[in-house]
Amino acid sequence: EARDPEQPEFLQAVMEVFETIEPVFKDHPEYEKSGVLERLVEPERVIKFRVPWIDDEGHVQVNRGYRIQFNSAIGPYKGGLRFHPTVTESVIKFLGFEQIFKNSLTGLPMGGGKGGSDFDPKGRSDAEVMRFCQSFMTELQRHVGQFTDVPAGDINVGAREVGYMFGQYKRLRNEFAGVLTGKGLEFGGSLARTEATGYGLCYYTQEALRVLRNDSFAGKTVVVSGSGNVAIFAIEKAQELGANVVTCSDSNGYIYDPNGIDLDIVKDIKLEHRGRIKEYADRVASAEYHEGCSEVWTVPCDIALPCATQNEIDEPHAQALVDNGCTVVCEGANMPSTPAAIAVYQNNGVLYGPAKAANAGGVAVSGLEMSQNSYRLSWTFEETDKRLQGIMESIVAESLAAAKQYGHEGDLMMGANIAGFIKVANAMVAEGII
Ligand code: NDP
Repeated sequence: EARDPEQPEFLQAVMEVFETIEPVFKDHPEYEKSGVLERLVEPERVIKFRVPWIDDEGHVQVNRGYRIQFNSAIGPYKGGLRFHPTVTESVIKFLGFEQIFKNSLTGLPMGGGKGGSDFDPKGRSDAEVMRFCQSFMTELQRHVGQFTDVPAGDINVGAREVGYMFGQYKRLRNEFAGVLTGKGLEFGGSLARTEATGYGLCYYTQEALRVLRNDSFAGKTVVVSGSGNVAIFAIEKAQELGANVVTCSDSNGYIYDPNGIDLDIVKDIKLEHRGRIKEYADRVASAEYHEGCSEVWTVPCDIALPCATQNEIDEPHAQALVDNGCTVVCEGANMPSTPAAIAVYQNNGVLYGPAKAANAGGVAVSGLEMSQNSYRLSWTFEETDKRLQGIMESIVAESLAAAKQYGHEGDLMMGANIAGFIKVANAMVAEGII
């Protein structure tokens, strides 16, 4: 805390992990001796750079770029790039820190990293986004590589942006390599990567419901926030599993549609036109639009799937969820619940699936994309989707086993933190003080 007083998001993420892994240290005195915690909270490398580009009016614009290579104990750095005006070093550090444990939980050999920029793509033309991405990669290319650090997408970084960055990397290095994941299918992308985080979230939730409550999505009312990559495919899978999803949102407001969200319309608005979610209410008679995205948590539901951004559920909103009958919160977004919101879940018996476990499906399929690139082959959608489902189910199993071992049976948060941590800690001890 003394070292990073101006990094509240990062400190929040660290505190959440540290509070739950304490019991492990009694069994593993070597962790303390080899300074695992002290080394774990200090990124191996923080890269911060200027990103100059020229807008359509011919003006020079300058943004700030980041890549934080947090921990490579179990594999090359891996984690997404976020383009959003709220991006700061603290935000990238919290995301990179979380990524270490998330990647470990997938069982694949990936270290933790994260990056991005305070660039705001809203209202920018394709040509502007391309020039920005090219400038961003012109610096980033000297720090990443298929065996070193493999970035992917995150908020506002999808197939378009990954394509432009991949093109620029190839041009500068004269090398066709799997340096990014989330690529187009024509140049090394994996089937099911686009769907992976949202689908994986639902596989995780379904499995946790089955094991802990002998229950499922069937017949449940579900509230989803966001209408981006994660939200859209979470809605799709939840509907497939028999749920009635009644909301979605963007940063301006939310849609309530008691008849169930018509996903084709959301996809048309968001994926085809990069429009605002408000338009949904103009096109669907049964839907209401409400200004202000945070009130989405006042809609009564059985299951809440936050899929927009960090700290989107605070204590009063967590209480509203519980008061209205919600008994399951599984996180598609990273750190969407404040610590006080998590306390509300814990005090009210809510089945709580923390982000680093519940949303690990995206990076898991990114790991599978890396394998396919190395083999120079591509698996079918069904094969990749099956592997994703298997990984999500084993994350539930491993989390519950770790929680049980340390006397907190059924605690998915504690279990995820412990299971993710132990593998990384063991590798850090074995590799020496570096
Ligand atoms: P997108 O850019 O596709 O969508 C983000 C959605 O969240 C949009 O609806 C956006 O609305 C909304 N949103 C963004 N910022 C805010 C904000 N400050 N307040 C309210 N709403 C906001 O991103 P993704 O779907 O990829 O990511 C969503 C979350 O999931 C993030 O937390 C991300 O880190 C996490 N995640 C993503 C993974 C992936 O594979 N993509 C993997 C694991 C986690 P608007 O259009 O108005 O900005």
